[in-house]
Amino acid sequence: MIEIYKKLPGTNCGECGEFTCMAFALKVNNAQRKMSECPYIKCIDEKILTQEPIVTMENNYKRVSNELEEEVKRVDLKEAADAIGGNYEDRSPEATLLAGSGSDSVGNGGGVIRLKMMNKEYEVRNEGLFKDNQHCQDSWSKIIIYDYVRRKGNIPLTGDWVSLGHFPNTASHSKAFQKKAETRIAEKFDSNMSGLKERCKELEGVEVHGKIKADYICGFKLLPRVPMYLCFWEADEEFPASCKLHVDSSAEAYIDIEYLAYLLEWFVKVFVE
Ligand code: SF4
Repeated sequence: MIEIYKKLPGTNCGECGEFTCMAFALKVNNAQRKMSECPYIKCIDEKILTQEPIVTMENNYKRVSNELEEEVKRVDLKEAADAIGGNYEDRSPEATLLAGSGSDSVGNGGGVIRLKMMNKEYEVRNEGLFKDNQHCQDSWSKIIIYDYVRRKGNIPLTGDWVSLGHFPNTASHSKAFQKKAETRIAEKFDSNMSGLKERCKELEGVEVHGKIKADYICGFKLLPRVPMYLCFWEADEEFPASCKLHVDSSAEAYIDIEYLAYLLEWFVKVFVE
């Protein structure tokens, strides 16, 4: 923001609609305004006029995913695969030669982890994250999977099924999540238990009995070692239908809780679409 401010006249004339040049610089930095909206910038440098926003949320996600990608390059993928329930494959030239295959190496050492995130197959290679044999461009998929790999959670399930609010510093998330996500499932499948079961089946959910008190429970794997239960209660004369998503309390060893919240929201989006 300071770098942007230094390029402005600093007269605080207010013609851009902001009270000060500093306020204008802040909005340019947040991608809410463009440099060209200051009428005096033309006199300074033509190049600045076409300057793209410096910080946007998407740029931020890209930056985080790139940093994690670099970190994962230093991770022992074989050890990580064992710790996170992924499948390790050695595709180095030596290994492929031994296996009598002609396929190419996929990078330093040729180690690859194959894993599923919400039923979609991914490969973590030294060159990055791949989906359907193509470089995955989605920053959030990269952030979640790289974080999962680098943490190497490696702890057993506790059998303690908890909602998002169980984890520290999630009070605000948990309320918003209840309102935005779980309620969406409850509303969509209110008085439609067969529709709910059908959707669970389509997404490879497995019906579970007796773990939690609910009218219907279905188990999913968000990531190989991050299982989730969708618990559903049908409406009665007093209460409308409701839904809760529970994860095993070991989840925090495997994934940052911010990312877990995002992954749960993502699940709901896919589930109700
Ligand atoms: S119009 Fe330009 S010089 Fe005037 S306050 Fe806005 S940024 Fe500053």
